[in-house]
Amino acid sequence: MGKARPGPPDDSNVGKRRRQQSAENSEGDEDTLLKQNPFASLVTNPQDQSNCSTVNLSDGSGRKKQPPLVVKNVNFSTLSTGIAECGVNPVYKLTRFGIKVLCNSSQEFNQVQDHLKMCSYEYYTHDKPGERPYRVIIRGLPLAEPGILQSQLESEYGLEAQAVHVIRRKEESEPFYLVHFLKGSTTLKKLREIKHIGSIIVQWQAYRNNRADVTQCLNCLHHGHGTRNCHLKSRCNHCGDAHTSDQCPKKSESTKHCANCDGAHSATDPSVQNTYGLDSKRQNQINRGGSPPIKGQQHQL
Ligand SMILES: [Zn+2]
Ligand SMILES: [Zn+2]
Ligand SMILES: [Zn+2]
Repeated sequence: MGKARPGPPDDSNVGKRRRQQSAENSEGDEDTLLKQNPFASLVTNPQDQSNCSTVNLSDGSGRKKQPPLVVKNVNFSTLSTGIAECGVNPVYKLTRFGIKVLCNSSQEFNQVQDHLKMCSYEYYTHDKPGERPYRVIIRGLPLAEPGILQSQLESEYGLEAQAVHVIRRKEESEPFYLVHFLKGSTTLKKLREIKHIGSIIVQWQAYRNNRADVTQCLNCLHHGHGTRNCHLKSRCNHCGDAHTSDQCPKKSESTKHCANCDGAHSATDPSVQNTYGLDSKRQNQINRGGSPPIKGQQHQL
C-alpha cells in the first residue's frame, strides 16, 4: 500500500466519444470507426511517438509503400470526411506535428493529394518511390528570385526545371542554385554544354547531399522533409516570420531570429545544425514517414 501505481490511461472520454459516434453513425461508417482505433490510442498516449513513427503498410501483395501525407492545422473529422467523400479510405495517425494520412496505392495517394491541394490544406509529404528528381547545382549567377532562373532556363534553352532553390552555406561565400529536373530528362553532360545563362558564365555540378545533418525544408525550415514536397506555410530564414526568406522586410537587419527555436541565428545555420542530435537512423525513420521533431527540440545553442 502507499505505492503509487500508474493507472490505466484515461480513455473513458475516447470510449464515450466512440460510443456516441456509433450511435449517430449508420452501419456504413463502421469502417471509418475501426480506422480511428490506432488514432485513438495515440491520443491517450501522445508521448509514445517513437514506436509509432514507422508504419508497415505491407499487406503481402507486394504493393509499393506510399509516402505519408502529413496535414497540419486541420480538424480530424473535417479532413477524414472530405477524403472519404473522394471515395478513398486511407489510414490515419495522429502525430504531434499533424495528421498523417497513409494511402494504400499510388492512385489513392494522388486522390488524397489532389483533395489536400484543392482545400489548400497545409501538408508535406515525400517523394514517391522512384520519383526522386535529378538535382544539379548552378554556380556563377547573381542572387535573384529562383523563379527568374526557372523561366530563363525554359525560355533560353527549353529546359523545364521542376524546382529551383537558392542555397546559402556558411562555409561558402557565394550562394548557388539547386535545380530539380524530372528524373531521366537530362544529364550533366548535356547541361554542361550550356556555358552561360542570360549572358553570365555558369558552372554546372552534380548535387551530392553528403552533409551529415538531417534534411531540412527550405520553405518551412522544418527538418525531416524536403522543399519539393512541402505545402506548409513559408517561414523566413532571416527573421522567422511567415513569409519566404527572399521577401523578408528585415533583410538588412543583422539580427536573425530562428523560426525553429527562437534563437538569434538563422534556422539553417550550420553551426547549430550540428547540435541537432539526430543520427542517420532516425533520419531514415523520418524519411520513411515519421514526424519531424517539434518546435523547441530542433536544436539548442
Ligand atoms: Zn517544409
Ligand atoms: Zn523575414
Ligand atoms: Zn534555432
